[in-house]
Amino acid sequence: MECKEALPLIHEYLDGGLRGAEALSLKEHLLTCPTCRERLTQLEKVEAMIQAWPKQQVSPGLTERVMQSLPPVRSSSPWWRWVRTHPAASVAAVFVLVMMGSFMSLWNEDSELLVKGTDLQSVVIQGDTVLVPVGKTVAGNLMVENGKLQVDGDITGNIVVIDGSVNLASTAHISGQVTQIDEAFGWLWFKMNDWAAKISEIK
Ligand SMILES: [Zn+2]
Repeated sequence: MECKEALPLIHEYLDGGLRGAEALSLKEHLLTCPTCRERLTQLEKVEAMIQAWPKQQVSPGLTERVMQSLPPVRSSSPWWRWVRTHPAASVAAVFVLVMMGSFMSLWNEDSELLVKGTDLQSVVIQGDTVLVPVGKTVAGNLMVENGKLQVDGDITGNIVVIDGSVNLASTAHISGQVTQIDEAFGWLWFKMNDWAAKISEIK
C-alpha cells in the first residue's frame, strides 16, 4: 500500500469505521511506514486536544461570554470532519482557539501591555514587565502582548509572547511550549485568528 492510499484509511480508522481486510492492510502499512505512524499520532493528538478543549475550567463570571465565542463542538460535526481532512491547519487553528478560549485579560494602559491567561492571580505587572514570581504557579496558558515576560516560577500551559520578549529563569518550569511572535509574523497571527473565526462559522 502507498501512503496516499493509507491516509483515507487512517481517517476511517479514527472515525471508528475500519474493519476486516482494510484494517489489516493499514496495520501492515503502519508497521513498515514511520511517516504514516507519525501522521496517525499527530491526528490522535489533535483529537485529544479538541476533546479536552471545551471542558477547560472557566471562571464563573466569564463562562457566558466565553461560551458565546466558542464554536459548538460535536464529535460528529462537519466541523470535525474538516479537521480530519486538514490536520496540519487544524493543529494551528486549535492552538489559536485554545489560546483564545477561556481567558481573563489585564491591560496596562500606559504601555498598551496586554496579558491574557486562565489564571492571572499569581502574575505581577511592573511597568511593561510581566513577572511570574519564583514559587508561584500560573495554572494554564499565558499570553503577553507588547511587553516583557519574566518567568521565575511555574507555568502549567503554553506561553505566547507577541511583540515582546521572554526570559526564563533557572527556577522556571514551563509545561507547555514557548512561542514568540514578532511583527514579521503578525499577519500570520491575524490569518490564524481569521481562520479560527471561519471554522467556528462552519459548525
Ligand atoms: Zn505511509
